[in-house]
Amino acid sequence: MAIDTNKILKETEEKLKNRFSKIDEISFKNQKKVLNAFIELKVSSQCFAGTTGYGYSDVGRDTLASVYAKVFGGEKAIVSPLLTCGTHAISTVLYGLLKNGDVMLSVTGLPYDTLHETLFGKNNSSLEDYGVKYEQIDLIGNGEFDYDKIYKKVKKMKPAMVYLQRSRGYSSRKAISPYDMKELFENVKKISPQTKIVVDNCYGEFVDDIEPTNVGADVIVGSLIKNPGGGLAPTGGYIVGSEEAIDMISARYTNPSLKLEIGSFEQGYRLFYQGLFMAPHTVAQALKGTALVGQIMEDKGYKVIPSNDEQPEDIVKSVIFNTADELIKFVQTVQAVSPIDGYVLPIPWDMPGYTDQVIMAAGTFVGGSSIELSCDSPIRAPYIAYFQGGLTYEHVKTFAEKLIELY
Ligand SMILES: *Cc1c(COP(=O)(O)O)cnc(C)c1O
Repeated sequence: MAIDTNKILKETEEKLKNRFSKIDEISFKNQKKVLNAFIELKVSSQCFAGTTGYGYSDVGRDTLASVYAKVFGGEKAIVSPLLTCGTHAISTVLYGLLKNGDVMLSVTGLPYDTLHETLFGKNNSSLEDYGVKYEQIDLIGNGEFDYDKIYKKVKKMKPAMVYLQRSRGYSSRKAISPYDMKELFENVKKISPQTKIVVDNCYGEFVDDIEPTNVGADVIVGSLIKNPGGGLAPTGGYIVGSEEAIDMISARYTNPSLKLEIGSFEQGYRLFYQGLFMAPHTVAQALKGTALVGQIMEDKGYKVIPSNDEQPEDIVKSVIFNTADELIKFVQTVQAVSPIDGYVLPIPWDMPGYTDQVIMAAGTFVGGSSIELSCDSPIRAPYIAYFQGGLTYEHVKTFAEKLIELY
């Protein structure tokens, strides 16, 4: 007898009722936060206009940065299509804040794969080439801070930077809630007030009702083709933080004499504003979609991270498969339900910046956007599919429907 897909979908949604209502609560709070910032900072349609050349007095650019600073609880921001991606934005922060002889201490283990060349590449203008010392403390248990080790090291080294990655990257830990960062940040500042706290906030924006900047991070940084772009921003990155930190970073972002006075974008800024306005809702759609798929795979006996009784802290869901074939089939199914290039079959390839072969599904309107339904996985054991996004819950549901039949 054929399986009753519709019935299974309904039953799965029933199980997720509480999760969905929690997601709605947070997105309502975040929607108000964004709306209030727009009104308070007097966003008008003039802000959408593009500029050319140097872009002096570009009101759209400057207002957008102020809105981001307000929404994320910082004093100042850099928000720009000229930050080409998340990796570029994070690297700009690191180069801006770290000098020869400084120590950067990562307290969430090894940072995201594409930053390794930035940190310790050889003869490629890496931080190591510039004399910055990198130190690392791994998370313990299921992704908890190793408080004692961290405090000891901070006391001993007085690092210029304590660095955290909120989302899990290509690891099987859980993501970290800003609420769980508060105590750490307070104590680090107590021991070493000069230390700057930087959070790679990729995939975390609007998942909670606060951001790491609200609990004492000096800088948060992320990509506009993930959560805060709302699926509409065509490219770019953001950096939000204290005035002092953003000033230092802006000298590196452009140059010390120009800082944030320049930077044009002829196409204009409407999509960046509209995307930010949509982002709390879009993130909620993605969270519901990943919860649905997670529950279905969990019910089929696969381990998923975070498990469905855990509160999600980023928009990524990992599904752990037994074989590379099962994994590849999952990724290919994401592609097969994509609105763009849905007819294409993805295969593993050697992607720049990554060590293992990677398979990716990104049938997206914005190239490589991962607030849209997308999936990527390095081909290595354990075989973990990292999937995320979905501009609408209904879209992810079509994917869930396929999975019920496939596994
Ligand atoms: C995506 C991501 C990055 C890098 O962003 P890109 O835009 O892909 O360069 C860095 N850190 C984390 C945790 C990410 O998820």
